[in-house]
Amino acid sequence: MKITVIGVGNVGSAVSQRIVNGGIARELIMLDAIEGLAKGKALDLQHTTPIKGETKIKGTTNYRDTKNSDIIVITAGKPRKEGMTRDDLAKGNAEIISQISQNIKKYNSKSKIIVVTNPLDPMTWQTYKKTGFPRKQIMGMAGELDTARYEKLLSKKTKISPEDIHGLVIGPHNKSMIPLTENTTIRGIPLNKFLNQKQTKEIVKETKKSGKKIVNYLQNGSAYHAPSAAIYKMIKTIARDEKRLLSVSTVLKGEYGIKNTAIGIPVIIGKDGIEKIPQKHLNQKTKQKLQKAAKEIKKTNKKLNTNQ
Ligand code: NAD
Repeated sequence: MKITVIGVGNVGSAVSQRIVNGGIARELIMLDAIEGLAKGKALDLQHTTPIKGETKIKGTTNYRDTKNSDIIVITAGKPRKEGMTRDDLAKGNAEIISQISQNIKKYNSKSKIIVVTNPLDPMTWQTYKKTGFPRKQIMGMAGELDTARYEKLLSKKTKISPEDIHGLVIGPHNKSMIPLTENTTIRGIPLNKFLNQKQTKEIVKETKKSGKKIVNYLQNGSAYHAPSAAIYKMIKTIARDEKRLLSVSTVLKGEYGIKNTAIGIPVIIGKDGIEKIPQKHLNQKTKQKLQKAAKEIKKTNKKLNTNQ
């Protein structure tokens, strides 16, 4: 496996460390617009390899080094600061994604791309449009992070290990995200056997606010430990061809009555990227919420001139 991480700030560094610790890549390319940052962080990580793993690591600003990457993670761009929404980042980060996409496609055609930059769903669509890669190769990471946050909150409330809680959060990576409470179980036992409606609603509210809460604490940046864990889960699923059902921002072509945008839905991930889109049965209300959220994302895409 050759893995490239583009943008080695907080999230990019954290995921690079997981890649090295996981021993999953033969080669890791760490690319950033800031030369010293890429080279310095790569050298720091190289010093961990005598202790853990044998990954060949290089820090660079040159896209030629990314040639024939199996997986490319895009974590470049501005994060939120206190008082900002993810959508406030759209214009600036869209320009960054556009430039990165042009460079990726000069040296790669088969790479599976994991987009992380916010606002996540418009940036996933932007990457799809600007690389021209097939949709199965373009995956936005957010649903696995939002699901982890939802499951952790449920675990705290029920006082049951998060390992036994099976939830799924779909939809956009913003306050309209959709935790599927009706499908959530604790080892197969429906959630409503553990929590009443009011308690469940409170968990949904808290899940939506999780990212903001961290931004408010940090004041000058956003979360990166849990995001890097969720990205690594996707990398591992592709690298080991695990065929897992993950919540991934995916370009839709009519599924769930939605097309020409990316939004979080459950898909099967394996060595080829998005290998199947099993159309999960959603109740009418949830389907409407998903469609309404997709319309909002399209408005952002339109402002960024990527709606075609
Ligand atoms: P950061 O500021 O710590 O790092 C961003 C890095 O990108 C910097 O090192 C910067 O030099 C680099 N960069 C900027 N423009 C570049 C370019 N054109 N080419 C290469 N590198 C470039 O930010 P962070 O906290 O690591 O967050 C990165 C992005 O990920 C943000 O947009 C943030 O909102 C997003 N994010 C998304 C999720 C999610 O769930 N999808 C979670 C956390 C963060």
